Amino acid sequence: MAQRPGFPIKFSTQEKVAPAKAPAKKTASTNPQGLGLDSSAVRQRMVQKLAAQGLKDPRVLQAMGAVERHRFVESALVNQAYEDTSLPIGLGQTISKPNVVARMIELLLEGADGKLGRVLEIGTGCGYQAAVLSHVATEVYSIERLKGLHEKARSNLRHFRLANVHLLFGDGMLGYPKGAPYAAIISAAGGETLPQAWLDQLAVGGRLVAPTVTATGQQALMVVDKTDQGFKQSVLEAVHFVPLKSGIS
Ligand code: SAH
Repeated sequence: MAQRPGFPIKFSTQEKVAPAKAPAKKTASTNPQGLGLDSSAVRQRMVQKLAAQGLKDPRVLQAMGAVERHRFVESALVNQAYEDTSLPIGLGQTISKPNVVARMIELLLEGADGKLGRVLEIGTGCGYQAAVLSHVATEVYSIERLKGLHEKARSNLRHFRLANVHLLFGDGMLGYPKGAPYAAIISAAGGETLPQAWLDQLAVGGRLVAPTVTATGQQALMVVDKTDQGFKQSVLEAVHFVPLKSGIS
C-alpha cells in the first residue's frame, strides 16, 4: 500500500525543483509546479478534516478536494497551503481558511439542488475561492478593488482554464449589475452594513453570505435570503475578515 503523506505534508525538495528542461514554462506564475500527485492526497486529508469539522455538502467537499490551493500561495508558504489557516496573499490581504471558504459555500448551497446559477463574489483576492465556486455554480463573477490582486488572480487562474469564471476589476460594493440577478452573492471582505446594491442584485430565491459588523461591534457571518415577501436575515458565528473598502486602488 502506498504510504500516505503526513499532515501537514512537507513537500520534498525534489518536487519543488522545476525540471531543468522546462524553463520556458515559468512565465507569469512563480508557483511551484509538479506537486500534482502528492497534493491530491494532502487535499483529501484536508477534506477529511473539513468533514470531521461538520462540513457535509458533497458538492463542497468535492470542490475543496479538487482545487489545488497550493497554486494560489507564495512558494514560501506552499507547505502550509492545506493547513486550516488563512495566509497572506500580498497588499495586506489574506486567503481565507479552507474551513471558512467551505462553510460559506455550504451556506450558499443550502436548499439549492445541483449547481447554483450565476454567483457574484466580492473580493477575488488570489482567486482561490473563485476557483472553488466554479465547481458549484454555472457562472462566477468575481470582483476585486486592488489591481495588483486582480492581476495576480488572473495569473493564478490561467492554469485552471475555468471558462465559467469572470474576473472583474472594480468596487464590489456596487456589485456588478450586468450579471444580475444572482442566485448567490458571497463577500470575502466585511463591511459595516450590507451594500444596497447586493440586495438589489440578488435574485428572488437567492442567498447572500457576507461577514458584517453586528450590533455588538463584532464581525459575524450574515446570511440573507431574498424571498417574495422580502428579506430574511440571520446572524451566524463570529468571523475575522479583512475590511470591505470602497473605491479602487
Ligand atoms: N476570496 C479571496 C479572499 C481575499 S481577501 C481568496 O480566495 O483569496 C478579501 C479581498 O476583498 C481582498 O483582496 C480585498 O482587496 C477585497 N475587497 C475589499 N473591499 C472590496 C470591494 N469593495 N470590492 C472588491 N474587492 C474588495
